[in-house]
Amino acid sequence: MSDFIDRLSTSVADLDEDAYILHDYEGAVSRWCHGCGDNAILAALQKLCAEEQLPPEKTVFVSGIGCASRLPHYMGTYGFHGLHGRALPVAEGIKIKRPDLHVFVNTGDGDCCAIGAGHWLHAVRYNMNMTVLLHDNRVYGLTKNQVSPTSPQGLVTNTTPRGSSLQPLNALAATLGMSNISFVAQAVDWLPGVLYDIIHQAFRHRGLSFVSILQRCPHYLPGHFDQYIKNPDRIRLLSHPDGLDPDAPYMHRFPSREAHDPSNLDRARELAAVSERLSVGILYRDDAVPCYEDLYRREKHLPIEAKMAALEREFDRFTVLPEG
Ligand code: SF4
Repeated sequence: MSDFIDRLSTSVADLDEDAYILHDYEGAVSRWCHGCGDNAILAALQKLCAEEQLPPEKTVFVSGIGCASRLPHYMGTYGFHGLHGRALPVAEGIKIKRPDLHVFVNTGDGDCCAIGAGHWLHAVRYNMNMTVLLHDNRVYGLTKNQVSPTSPQGLVTNTTPRGSSLQPLNALAATLGMSNISFVAQAVDWLPGVLYDIIHQAFRHRGLSFVSILQRCPHYLPGHFDQYIKNPDRIRLLSHPDGLDPDAPYMHRFPSREAHDPSNLDRARELAAVSERLSVGILYRDDAVPCYEDLYRREKHLPIEAKMAALEREFDRFTVLPEG
């Protein structure tokens, strides 16, 4: 017993009193519905912050409008709950002026893929160093059940009383078709270990990491993802030394695993296009794509002579010489 007490006091003495703990990242109490997948994403982010020891005053969560966009309120960090569809340009503005901050974006399928779609493709192209999480629940929840761009065909909502007539937008495939992508992954909220590992790798990647997360909305789309939850063989877990660890403890639970090299863009696009089997993991990454904030600073810090010479060259292009 005394040996146990000795060891306990030694480990208590070893505790770093300055280390951040999970509690440091907790904000207001969540008002999401019971069973909402947003809660799992919030838990993964708080765990990530604690594990990475991110100073709360150097961390900012940016969102637009929608259920997912309430997330910054629930973090004990800085946050910006902005306008519908405008999370990405706000985050880019923060990053360009304060590259020292850790920037996260939480956006929903309406926020990102409808009103914010223009910002989505340009933010991906700019490849600024931030982690973008798409909470894709396939319906507008906050405004009480309207069709979203990712809603399944035939879905009856308040705005589609006879059922949605359009094919859904595949946000994962769309992102993989954009220019200058550097990290694209897919996760699901009901597999917390896998979700955490994907978000963790997304955070560690330098560049814009886009993670599409299938997120349950039990209030308006109860049972929508049951086809995958009840049939794990319909989930294709992607593993690779540059992706999810092939020896991760959860791997053996999935009968349909696939070794996927995330540098293979063609295969990533094929995987993203198939909806019968859901590909979960890191589909694509290219760590060599430069971040816009680095390019911007390089240009900004050119010597004055180089800037003047570039300006003169531009003026010369438009010089109108007298005839003859
Ligand atoms: Fe979550 Fe849906 Fe409730 Fe919104 S309406 S909090 S997405 S369960």
